[in-house]
Amino acid sequence: MKKCTKCKTEKEVTEFTKDKSRKDKLCPYCRSCEREIRKGRSKENAKRAKQWKLNNKEKYKENQKRYRDKAKPCCYIWKHNEFFYIGSTKQHTGRRFTTHKINVNTQLGYYIKKHNLEKKDFELQTTYFETIKEARKYEKELICKHIEDPKCLNTQRW
Ligand SMILES: [Zn+2]
Repeated sequence: MKKCTKCKTEKEVTEFTKDKSRKDKLCPYCRSCEREIRKGRSKENAKRAKQWKLNNKEKYKENQKRYRDKAKPCCYIWKHNEFFYIGSTKQHTGRRFTTHKINVNTQLGYYIKKHNLEKKDFELQTTYFETIKEARKYEKELICKHIEDPKCLNTQRW
């Protein structure tokens, strides 16, 4: 048993996440308190971002535009160990990764979730094109080429 330093409740050690930097290798707050803290923090951050947006309208617009303009159609390959996933996008590949991550219905999303991975765990390879049509064509070619490959997440059936 361990006492949470926030809610002061005694709980089973399994109710605390691991923290290697601590003497007892456990987080000082219980899981539910940790969750509350995290929630509060993200709310604070959102509030701060919103306020900044209001105070810096022009700068915000400029940033948005710069961000959009930087995106170019591309065919991408996310690699992890021997596994890889082929796709194409008009968006930033980082943003595309996030959509994959939250969508477990796609093979890559499922793979990310199953192995608890982050963007930094993957190696990214991109080929840029002038139009998204060309990028999609190249994507199809690549997938066709790897259709028999068991390491190709596009053609894996779960
Ligand atoms: Zn607690």
